[in-house]
Amino acid sequence: MQGRMMFQPLLISSLIEHAAQYHGDTAVISKNTDLTMTHTTWLQISDNAKRFAQALNQMGIQAQDCVATIAWNNHRHLEAWYAISGNEMICHTINPRLFPEQLIFIINDAKDRVILFDKTFLPLIVAVKAHIPLVEHFICLSAHDADVAQALPEVKFYDALIAEQNADFVWPIFDETTASSLCYTSGTTGNPKGALYSHRSTTLHSMAIALPDSMGLSAKDVMMPVVPMFHVNAWGTPYAAAMVGSTLVLPGPGLDGTSLVNLIDQYQVSIALGVPTIWQGLLTAAKKLGSQLSSMKRNVVGGSACPASMINTFKDVYDCDTIHAWGMTETSPLGTAAQLKAKHLQLSDAEQVKVRLSQGRPPFGVSLRLCDQEQGTDTIKADGEQTGNLQIKGHWIIDAYFGKDQSALTSDGWFDTGDIATLDADGYLRISDRAKDLIKSGGEWISSVELENIALDFNHDISMAAVIAAKHPKWDERPVLIAVRHPESQLTEIEILKYYADKVAKWQIPDKVIFVESIPLNGTGKMLKKELREQFENVLMNEPSS
Ligand code: ADP
Repeated sequence: MQGRMMFQPLLISSLIEHAAQYHGDTAVISKNTDLTMTHTTWLQISDNAKRFAQALNQMGIQAQDCVATIAWNNHRHLEAWYAISGNEMICHTINPRLFPEQLIFIINDAKDRVILFDKTFLPLIVAVKAHIPLVEHFICLSAHDADVAQALPEVKFYDALIAEQNADFVWPIFDETTASSLCYTSGTTGNPKGALYSHRSTTLHSMAIALPDSMGLSAKDVMMPVVPMFHVNAWGTPYAAAMVGSTLVLPGPGLDGTSLVNLIDQYQVSIALGVPTIWQGLLTAAKKLGSQLSSMKRNVVGGSACPASMINTFKDVYDCDTIHAWGMTETSPLGTAAQLKAKHLQLSDAEQVKVRLSQGRPPFGVSLRLCDQEQGTDTIKADGEQTGNLQIKGHWIIDAYFGKDQSALTSDGWFDTGDIATLDADGYLRISDRAKDLIKSGGEWISSVELENIALDFNHDISMAAVIAAKHPKWDERPVLIAVRHPESQLTEIEILKYYADKVAKWQIPDKVIFVESIPLNGTGKMLKKELREQFENVLMNEPSS
């Protein structure tokens, strides 16, 4: 057939080129590591990305070498991202909250040749330096700093490196399936595993998250990714922001509620994204400060289940629509987003909240199915009732882990997420648990997430709740609630257990409530249930069997 469309590879450099050309004067506002603010623009971000790309070339870094970053969400980090991936190198974002042994493992596993870091993480670099012999260059994301130079004599400074270059650089053109960036899973079990994204997967994912039924991003938005750039690439938002030309507000190290409320009010943030623990802090601070969060139209909650009280408070008090989303490192991360369909608009507010509380439905580009927990690949009907192992496929879903030959997929090409869920006929997903966190009581499964959400909804008395499987002499496992009370709360075990009575079947009510000062969190703010299990798994072993 004669006649065809032009082919252009989908490259990350085209996102920043677009932002520079058509949104060049749109602001990128950044809180620096020293808490000062920098106001820059997409054009300046693009120019500095080109300068740093040339600096990397001069250092002898080659295509497909890994260049690591240990940094907050700030403008230098953003420039470096575009410089590294745009220049055909791999941008390896490192989560600084990993344990030092994990950090050493992933730096060596990725064979990082360069590490870019914010001054906050200097002690971490100094501590692990002797164990990462492949790293040739350490670059501090700042102007010259005497403390850093003294602690790390070989250090280079980002501002000095880009000052030596000009912005005439032309981005190389290459195959769109080339690797662009690397994120490791937070490794709640075993060593972290790398998910290697490509230019094509990242660009398509950016389009998908910007769609109206995902996050609905546009050039009218002022977007604040609170989710760190080292947590699945801030869920892809720095790429999508360039694609749509939205203003970006990068919160730097200030992730506490008060700092975030101040940024929202000062810069009129219209959409912000983060995990539930971030939003808990923000809501407490907004109340204390008397802020109306009047510019906020949407907030995206993901990473862990969003409690109903959070959706209701954002809507009723702040007139802000919460978008509940689900995904994982292996899925770039967007798998689903909870947006209503036309047929839901006639429903009552309470019924609409039920839809919004689901993890949502997949955008074009992602397919989901449920498989039998014991039988393997037999699919389970998407009837909104039956639970199964959630499996996924799509353009931005992992095929094989970094450095591994063998596929990470089932024999028929799906990725098993490790989540247990229901799906309904429209594709709305409801996660009931991580497979490893389910509680098996007398042969019946109990969802820990459902019990946690009920506890979190108790009159705002509980700030954190984890339900774990404790060993039981008769039932094998029984649920135990580990909870953190708000400082002023007098809540008792009896009161909370009574609260469960009309919400779940009697046999699903936890056997015990243990109040603790705090719950350990992993590097991305998720509860470390494994540690809680180790600590509390025997608490029921001496109970009289009932
Ligand atoms: P890790 O698996 O190491 O925690 P990820 O950050 O990739 O690292 O987490 C992915 C997992 O987080 C999902 O498989 C799911 O269990 C959980 N998750 C993510 N978003 C949600 C959500 N909205 N509701 C419930 N669980 C979620």
